[in-house]
Amino acid sequence: NRRIVLAARPHGEPSPAHFRLEEARVPVAKAGEILLRTRWLSLDPYMRGRMSAAKSYAAPVAIGEPMTGGTVSEVVESNNPDFAVGELVSAFGGWQDYAVSDGRGVQRIPPGVPPTTALGILGMPGMTAYTGLLTIGRPKAGETVVVAAAAGPVGSLVGQIAKLKGARAVGIAGGPEKCRYLIDELGFDAAIDHRGDDLPQALAAACPDGIDVYFENVGGAVFEAVLPLLNDFARMPVCGLVSAYNATELPPGPDRAPALMRTILTKRLHLQGFIVWDFADQAEAFLRDVGHWLRDGRVKHREDIVEGLEKAPEALIGLLKGRNFGKLIVHVA
Ligand code: NDP
Repeated sequence: NRRIVLAARPHGEPSPAHFRLEEARVPVAKAGEILLRTRWLSLDPYMRGRMSAAKSYAAPVAIGEPMTGGTVSEVVESNNPDFAVGELVSAFGGWQDYAVSDGRGVQRIPPGVPPTTALGILGMPGMTAYTGLLTIGRPKAGETVVVAAAAGPVGSLVGQIAKLKGARAVGIAGGPEKCRYLIDELGFDAAIDHRGDDLPQALAAACPDGIDVYFENVGGAVFEAVLPLLNDFARMPVCGLVSAYNATELPPGPDRAPALMRTILTKRLHLQGFIVWDFADQAEAFLRDVGHWLRDGRVKHREDIVEGLEKAPEALIGLLKGRNFGKLIVHVA
């Protein structure tokens, strides 16, 4: 039973030295429990937060403990009548070959879709896009929706749902290949490379009628470019700030909070932070709607599969810098 534990807490960018690959005994499933063999492990930006001891909405991973993570796992032993040996489930197995569970939070993978979709478009990231956009963003036909990290599992679905609702979708992504993908494959109306040196001008040109919904995934320079373009009564689901996850201090320069507050007031902006589980009561509607759209080919998704558990640390480090192209998943077994 290989497992990858948190060896040390990073200050700034994580490196392979913050992780350690260990051999451990295969855990034993007691009464009521199941033994899970990890088949696929999801890598997600929030994992950077779990490596840090800073106060957040969830407890950090303890030093020496396996990194947490969503998995698609196979039930290999069952002392729980709800699960049969051989079934594929989505679970929180973590960065390891085997995990035991009492079945709480474990869900059978529905038939008819590839199992890895349970980690992406039909899993936590997909539900984040669906709930955040529709409940907080509330795009209307003809409005302009902007999203960054647009080639990833959250952003790509945000843009596609915006299109299904009749809005104009503008994606921001790193590099020409991701930008081409947004337009050619996903049907975004415009795509902008945030690594170009004219982000504010390029974004303004792509949003001639301003921005009505900004789905905030990254913060930083992208947010600075978006702010002056927001229309009165614009909505901003604040989902993630990935550009700052490795930051060790506030950006330099004058304090911009007063100017931001003034913009919020004068433009009557609606900002709302959210964590996907706040909308747990929408899980059924999400699976129904996005499941239909996926089967009908009305939404597409892309996966970036890395081979081998031992590759997980490098892959997570790369995710925070945009090296992934699509939903990042480790094929474990
Ligand atoms: P992605 O697979 O899209 O990976 C993150 C992407 O962020 C990278 O690929 C990179 O893409 C982009 N990025 C990194 N640094 C920067 C930067 N400085 N400026 C602009 N873009 C950058 O991740 P997800 O789709 O899984 O997650 C997207 C966001 O949603 C994250 O902020 C995540 O934390 C958040 N999230 C929030 C949840 C919630 O409940 N609130 C739940 C799930 C996710 P590129 O190459 O385009 O730069």
